[in-house]
Amino acid sequence: LNLAYWEDKYYFEDNDLIIVGAGIVGLTTAISAKRLRPELKILVLERSSLPSGASTKNAGFACFGSVTELLSDQSTTTEQEQIDLIKMRWDGLELLKSNVTKDKLLYRARGGVEVLDPDQASQMEAINHIDHYNGLVEQAIGLSNCFRLIDQDLSSSFHHKAIYNQYEGELNPMHMMSSLHQTAIKLGVNILYGLTVDEIDSGSVKIEDRHIQAKYIAVCTNGLTRSLFPNMELKAVRNQVFVTDIIEDNPLSSCYHFDEGYIYFREIDGRILIGGARNQFADQETTDAFGQTDNLRGYLKDFLESKILNHEINIAYEWSGILGVGTQKSPIIEQVKPGVYVGVRLGGMGVAIGSRVGDRLARLIYDPVD
Ligand SMILES: Cc1cc2nc3c(=O)[nH]c(=O)nc-3n(C[C@H](O)[C@H](O)[C@H](O)COP(=O)(O)OP(=O)(O)OC[C@H]3O[C@@H](n4cnc5c(N)ncnc54)[C@H](O)[C@@H]3O)c2cc1C
Repeated sequence: LNLAYWEDKYYFEDNDLIIVGAGIVGLTTAISAKRLRPELKILVLERSSLPSGASTKNAGFACFGSVTELLSDQSTTTEQEQIDLIKMRWDGLELLKSNVTKDKLLYRARGGVEVLDPDQASQMEAINHIDHYNGLVEQAIGLSNCFRLIDQDLSSSFHHKAIYNQYEGELNPMHMMSSLHQTAIKLGVNILYGLTVDEIDSGSVKIEDRHIQAKYIAVCTNGLTRSLFPNMELKAVRNQVFVTDIIEDNPLSSCYHFDEGYIYFREIDGRILIGGARNQFADQETTDAFGQTDNLRGYLKDFLESKILNHEINIAYEWSGILGVGTQKSPIIEQVKPGVYVGVRLGGMGVAIGSRVGDRLARLIYDPVD
């Protein structure tokens, strides 16, 4: 690092907290820590010129759980854990809307539709569990009748009924992150892009040949965490996303989920955004390498063409992002060595849960009674 005296002093000296990663969790950790303790000197270090994990790459669903996904999680999660997770996701969305106003998020409360495959018994079984999960959501967040059975008029390929979630919405991830960035800067947080942290120890992080000191380190690198902590109980998985040309007969009016949420699609500016299906290519998509592949692109394109539109479509934009998942759906928010904390493993609903993870991480460091 070739730093001028004043660059060095301004950014690298006397930091109370260094945060690694400028995704939704890293920036929210910074914002919450500053709100708790305005006098803190905080530095966020981000390896890329943009945050480059998931926070600007995601699909923008502001969701907190579909019935088939909750049902499938039953085998690995207790009921209380499900309630806690729904609450954490909901609280995260509420906190996000207070850190970044709804209009800045370009938030649209369009509801969410879970379309059901008549050939999949587990998906059809979900219909019998709507009342149960309405009860759980009510216990978690106090809102009743979250899910209801509706007539599905999207396509003849799906069951004639679908499950509607009236509380779901969508947002623009880039506007979300840009606004969080502005909020953090306004609070006096320093953020440096293009610096990769290679090692972390109590009291310092290493970048290239330089150890930068801070009393506390917060690691918010989600799916990319194992390069820093190889034994962390999480794995990186990729999600590919595609956006079509503008479609004249676009039938979509909500956010849609299919196959336990593994496939997701919605309308954006007259186009269709579709992503996911990593369960269909599990080995290939268990990776922290960005990239798009012909087989997954073909699978999702065929899904749109044969199940939804009945005509060919053209993909106009495509990208991928990396997320962190584990055997448990709950995030890891803990101290891993003296003064070093992590807030990682956000799973597939990190837009929802991310703000709460960041806030809890800040409180774990500065207000441990929470
Ligand atoms: C394609 C895709 C679609 C998704 N869709 C949705 C959705 O619709 N709704 C939803 O709720 N969730 C969705 N998610 C999940 C959600 O986006 C993530 O859970 C969330 O953004 C994670 O935020 P984060 O801050 O923990 O991690 P990230 O956003 O991944 O941020 C981590 C940051 O750490 C940086 N970093 C990593 N290592 C280092 C290092 N050594 N030094 C410095 N910096 C480092 C990375 O560059 C990155 O910017 C999706 C994820 C993907 C990939």
